[in-house]
Amino acid sequence: MKIDDLIEGVDYFVYYVQFPNYANPSSVTPNDDGTFTIYLNTRFPPEFLEDRLRHELRHIARGHFQDALPIELIEREADGEKLYRDFFHPPAGMIPCFASEEALARFVNRLFKPERML
Ligand SMILES: [Zn+2]
Repeated sequence: MKIDDLIEGVDYFVYYVQFPNYANPSSVTPNDDGTFTIYLNTRFPPEFLEDRLRHELRHIARGHFQDALPIELIEREADGEKLYRDFFHPPAGMIPCFASEEALARFVNRLFKPERML
């Protein structure tokens, strides 16, 4: 069996590891073969680590490691928030369109100040 057969269809590996401190609950490393390694800090409770695993998997699934979006938006998307990706990366031949400057301002304000949405 070739090594390519072993990794075919595998996108990530998950390791539960006790980190030296509580600074980070999880970490992801892109590997040279296109896979990812996810480390989960066992100092944190299992339920919390499940959420962190979902968070890290969203980073991988949404291609955040090759993304030019601001890190704040990337983290919010990894936390499960819907971003308006068509605005940032519109399909070929299309541009985002707003009915008025106020509509655009509301949209941008919502992106960067979500607490004001309420
Ligand atoms: Zn993250």
